[in-house]
Amino acid sequence: MPAELIDGRAIAKKIRADVAERAKKLAQGGLRPGLAVVMVGDNPASAVYTAAKSKAAEEAGFYSLNLRLPADTSEADLLSRVDALNSDPKIHGILVQMPLPKQIDPDTVIRRIDPKKDVDGFHPVNVGKMLIGERDGFIPCTPAGIQVLLKESGVKTPGKDCVIIGRSNIVGKPMAALMMQDNENANCTVTVCHRRTVDLKAHTRAADILIVAAGRPRIVTADMVKPGAVVIDVGTNRVNDPSTKSGTRLQGDVDFESVSEIASKITPVPGGVGPMTIAMLMANTVRAAEMTVR
Ligand code: NAP
Repeated sequence: MPAELIDGRAIAKKIRADVAERAKKLAQGGLRPGLAVVMVGDNPASAVYTAAKSKAAEEAGFYSLNLRLPADTSEADLLSRVDALNSDPKIHGILVQMPLPKQIDPDTVIRRIDPKKDVDGFHPVNVGKMLIGERDGFIPCTPAGIQVLLKESGVKTPGKDCVIIGRSNIVGKPMAALMMQDNENANCTVTVCHRRTVDLKAHTRAADILIVAAGRPRIVTADMVKPGAVVIDVGTNRVNDPSTKSGTRLQGDVDFESVSEIASKITPVPGGVGPMTIAMLMANTVRAAEMTVR
């Protein structure tokens, strides 16, 4: 495997150690960062994600509030919970786990969170700040984590062609907005591909940096990658695997075995982008707390 592995676990560990240090400093001044994680219903995947986020918050020394509401919670009830968290001085970051049950409109909920506590970075105020390059908002955790992965693994981004597969509001679009900014960790020429892209391979073959967030197992194969490219695999697809105890395993959007033979650097799944998402959530939360004392 000639490609160098980008170790998301190791980089995330560094970020979380820095966050814990900053939380300790705040605590010395009498302020403990607080993160509220709200989950509605009993989606098993959401339960795993919210438990991991609350655990990471505790490990960072935060006050951690894990609010689990029944699946038949009304939109009005959830909004009043958000209002209460918005005005709770112990809470600096609020995260409402998606997806929500069908009676609740996710956009209404996202817009109700105080932008200063929107540590997921999904509120339109924060999305707008990110797009115009203002630095006092919050950046969505997964693309923010990918930018840190690139920086920490020594990838020089200015002038590079960055191709992103996927245009979701949580990964693809913010990733494009970040990589096109005028700064040393960006300055890329960005292309965004989606299901209506006519010749996907023609675009991916031109990428110096290829970021794949399609949610389709092994959609990117070696013939689609330029030799020496940096490949970031965001995909987390649960696929059947009778050889494992659970009968399933996580599979990225990239065919790791073949692509790692020609890429210069590549993220594994698991252990690449995933750990960074939680680390960046902690970083956003400690920053939200720091901003209340500045
Ligand atoms: P999403 O909302 O389903 O968006 C997928 C995007 O990929 C869409 O824009 C879609 O195009 C595009 N796409 C799908 N199939 C394609 C194809 N064959 N060719 C070109 N484009 C294609 O997914 P998401 O929320 O962004 O997540 C993407 C993946 O990342 C999922 O596997 C998710 O689990 C994973 N994820 C991981 C983390 C982490 O922390 N590791 C965080 C977030 C997401 P259209 O817009 O045309 O439909």
